[in-house]
Amino acid sequence: LVGADGSIHPTIFAEMSALAAHTGAINLGQGFPDEDGPAAVLEAAREAIANGVNQYPPGRGIPDLLSAIAEHQERFYGLRLDPARNVLVTAGATEALASALLALLDDPEDEVVVFEPHYDSYAAVVALAGARLVTVPLRWPDFQPDLEELRAAVTDRTRIILVNDPHNPTGAVFDAEVRTEIVRLAERHDAVIVTDEVYEHLVFGAPHVPIATLPGAWERTLTISSGGKTFSTTGWKIGWISGPAPLVDAVLAVKQFLTYVNGSAFQPAIATGLRLGDEFFRGIADALRAKRDLLGAGLRAAGFGVSEPAGSYFTVADAASLGVTDAAAFCRSLPERAGVVAIPLTAFATPARRAEYATLVRFAACKRVDVLEEAAARLADLA
Ligand code: PMP
Ligand code: GLN
Repeated sequence: LVGADGSIHPTIFAEMSALAAHTGAINLGQGFPDEDGPAAVLEAAREAIANGVNQYPPGRGIPDLLSAIAEHQERFYGLRLDPARNVLVTAGATEALASALLALLDDPEDEVVVFEPHYDSYAAVVALAGARLVTVPLRWPDFQPDLEELRAAVTDRTRIILVNDPHNPTGAVFDAEVRTEIVRLAERHDAVIVTDEVYEHLVFGAPHVPIATLPGAWERTLTISSGGKTFSTTGWKIGWISGPAPLVDAVLAVKQFLTYVNGSAFQPAIATGLRLGDEFFRGIADALRAKRDLLGAGLRAAGFGVSEPAGSYFTVADAASLGVTDAAAFCRSLPERAGVVAIPLTAFATPARRAEYATLVRFAACKRVDVLEEAAARLADLA
C-alpha cells in the first residue's frame, strides 16, 4: 500500500531499529528511552493486573485516568476540563492523531497545514483520510516557521492546522508569536487546531505553553499528549486528546472503530504518573537537558554543526561539515562506519522539500549517559 505521494510505507523507525539490532550499533535513531520510568507507575500497572483490571475499559477511558488528565491540565496550565466530556483516552498519541484527522476531514479538497519536517504519521494519516497536505518549512538552525509562509499556507480550504510543539524531529519550541499567529489564522479561516504536545514535560527553558490556553483557541483546539514520553512507557500506548465536547465526541466516534478501547491496566498506572509531585516533572526535564548537552558536545567534537534543541528527545546535527551531501546514505553507512544509528531528516520531509534537509541528521538523546558517552566516543573517530 503506497499513498499517492509515497507517504504510506514501512516507517523509518522500523528500518533503523532493525539496522541497529542487526549491526549491534547504538540506537540513537528511534526515540525511546533505555531506562524504566518511575517505580510507582510500574507498580501501579502490576497492581491493576493483580486486581483484575484486565477487561475492556469504558470507551472514553477509565474515569480515574480521565480525572487525572483533567487535574493535570489544571495544575500545569490552568485549563479547567470536565473529565466526562472534554477528555478521551486513546491508543497512544498516534491513535489520537489518526482519529482526530479521520473525524475532521471529509472532503478531498480539505487541506491540513503541517510544519515540516514532521513526525512521519502525519502525512500518512492525511493520505489515509484522503485529504491534502500543505507544508510550511522549518529551517536550520532555529526551525521557527516564517510567519509570511505560514500566512500563505492557511486559506479557507484549511480544515486543520496541525501543530507539534515541542517539535519532533527538530527539538524546536515555537516562539510565542508563532503560537499567536496560528490561533489568529485558525480563527480567520475557521480551521481546527490539532496540537501534538507529547513532549510537553521535556522542555529545557520556560515551561511549556499549550496552544489551547491562548485567547480564542480553546473552542477550536484538540490537544494531544501521551504517557509514553513523560513516564518512559512508550510501549504502553496510553495517549489522550482533550478539547471542547463536540470535537472530542467526533474523535470518539472514529476511535471506537479503530481500537474501540485500549490498555485497561496501564490506564490507572498513567493516572498515578500524572499525579506525581512537581519534583518528578522537573527531574525528567533536568536529566534530559544534561543528556542533550552531552550529546551536543559529542556531535560538535565529531565535527557536526549542532542545533540546540529547546525541548523533545532530539538533536539535529548538520553533517555538511563532514563532507556529507546525502544524509540518508550517510545514516545507512553510519552503523558500519561508527557503530551508531541515527535518522536522516529527509525521512520527515515531503519529497518536494527533501533537498533542503539533505545534510541533516536526527540523533535521540533519551538514552543512558554511558550509552551517549560511548556513542560520542565512536563518532569522534569519524572526523
Ligand atoms: N507524536 C510525536 C511528535 C511523537 O514523537 C510520537 C512518538 N512517540 C508520537 C506522536 C506517538 O506517540 P505514541 O507512542 O503515544 O503513540
Ligand atoms: N516518536 C519516536 C521517534 O520519533 C518513535 C516513533 C515510532 O517508533 N513510531 O523516534
